[in-house]
Amino acid sequence: MKGIQFDNAAQRKTYVGWVYEAGTKVIKERVLDELPGEFARLHTEGLIHIHDLDAYGQTYNCLQMDLLRSFPYGRFDGASTFRKITGIFDHFRDVIIKLGNEQSGGIGFPNFDLDLEVIFTEFDIPQTSENLQALRDSVEAFIDWCNYSRERCGQTTYYVSLNLGLATGQLGRHVTRSAIEYFRDSSLDVIKPNIIFKVKRGVNCAPSDPNYDLFQLALESSCKKMIPTYLLFDSAANAAYEPAKVAIMGCRTKVVADVYGEDRSVGRGNIGYVTINLPRIALEIDAQPTRRTAEQKLQQFKSRWTEVAETVVAILLHRYSDLLHMTADDFPCNQKFGLWVKDFDPEQSLEEVFRHGTLSIGFIGLSDAIEILTGDDFTRSSNAQRQGYELVEHMRCFVDIYREKHALNFTLLASSGEFISGRFPSIDADHFDHPVLEKGFYTNSFHVDVDSGLNPLEKIAVEGPFHVLANGGCISYVEFSAAPLANTEAVAEVVEAGIEHGVNYLGVNFPLDRCLDCGEQGTFDQCPRCRSKRIQRIRRVSGYLEDFEFFTPGKKAEVENRRPNSCVPFEVR
Ligand SMILES: [Zn+2]
Repeated sequence: MKGIQFDNAAQRKTYVGWVYEAGTKVIKERVLDELPGEFARLHTEGLIHIHDLDAYGQTYNCLQMDLLRSFPYGRFDGASTFRKITGIFDHFRDVIIKLGNEQSGGIGFPNFDLDLEVIFTEFDIPQTSENLQALRDSVEAFIDWCNYSRERCGQTTYYVSLNLGLATGQLGRHVTRSAIEYFRDSSLDVIKPNIIFKVKRGVNCAPSDPNYDLFQLALESSCKKMIPTYLLFDSAANAAYEPAKVAIMGCRTKVVADVYGEDRSVGRGNIGYVTINLPRIALEIDAQPTRRTAEQKLQQFKSRWTEVAETVVAILLHRYSDLLHMTADDFPCNQKFGLWVKDFDPEQSLEEVFRHGTLSIGFIGLSDAIEILTGDDFTRSSNAQRQGYELVEHMRCFVDIYREKHALNFTLLASSGEFISGRFPSIDADHFDHPVLEKGFYTNSFHVDVDSGLNPLEKIAVEGPFHVLANGGCISYVEFSAAPLANTEAVAEVVEAGIEHGVNYLGVNFPLDRCLDCGEQGTFDQCPRCRSKRIQRIRRVSGYLEDFEFFTPGKKAEVENRRPNSCVPFEVR
């Protein structure tokens, strides 16, 4: 199995996985061969990255499933109550397995708690202690399954995201409590699915809110295991949206505004995305021999970015029209269970469905690009941050113009960039010589440097304003030196700051190590209990927790450069 470089941290080397990966490589090469030359060249040269090339024209990326539109209630006619309860989760597993074969990316439950409330009501299941226990057991088994099972011929785990936190009824609250408690108390082996807690004033923020206890529980779990992450509905980025209609993928992909309907995530997904290498554009400009001011270089950057983005739009349109050559029969699970906002009708073009999806233009390395163009430190200089903001504003403006022009849902994505954070600088280092290239990775989207040394609230204050611009998805992380454990106030304050500074989606990170010999957990290179050096390291990458051993080289370099934004105990203002 030598010679296969895996593209993401969830992949594992098994025989069948190797066959799958080898096939993927061949298909990617063929797709590149068949693409218009200009598209392929920009990708190969590392100015852009066309993600999921193997899925090009074959399928879409990800989906927040509409589970209620065609839930198969009839299948359970005459079944016992217990069978109905476990059967709901059998259905969820069935859908995940099938969708895993039908699409290329993540699978989202937009309202895990609210949807189960509706299904239980429809089944008329009495909320006895026995039934609630069966529900709790089923939720726990489902989490285990999401964590341990492997898709794509055993090669990778399912990227499942459970959005929850809004349901205030007894049953919905029980679902949320069961999921978070189980995740919090399970061993470090359990790092999936991603759980996203929806934070909303009047529902779960203040002590007088009905789900305040569940928010506290979520904070406890995040302090111990980095999950859940938080989708903030009172922040400027999301204040206009109805929380039950909007959800996010663990990786950060967000689908809300729709040229063809109301603002919602439920039943919609991303079709595809392309990331632009911002540091490369900056390096090209910087390498020109003529003397220019920083302001002139920034202007040059904007016009060059616009040229590249025009090609990216052409690529996304090409990919979209290729996808429309598929038929409803290519999506049997979607066709059967009506998971998108519109039916996969064999009599109609798939355009009826896929025009509700998003086409995203992503970016990586804003802070690196600013540093190359102006010489200023993005983390420290408010002037550099303002310049960065103006660049991203320019990008968003461009995206909105093309959305109008083509009547398609173009969005601006602050790419998670697991693979590209290493791929781009390694290509660029062959052509350019700049200090920015020395660290071996480019900084995530609009984030400040991972070794910024800013405290959590400063970091949130710098990154917050960008969130409203990145309407295709973004996240801000706060890095702790170790698990904050009992210090839920620290995370609560980060969430509060996130709301105040316009953050859309937020997570806390810290190194999470486990001794493979005695099970001791903490942050260490050698086990403090048994002195073993066999240590499993869990770190977050591209939104999901993964085993560090399997990270791509770029992400390994990034993790090794990460410096905490706070030591524990975190000082509360
Ligand atoms: Zn040990």
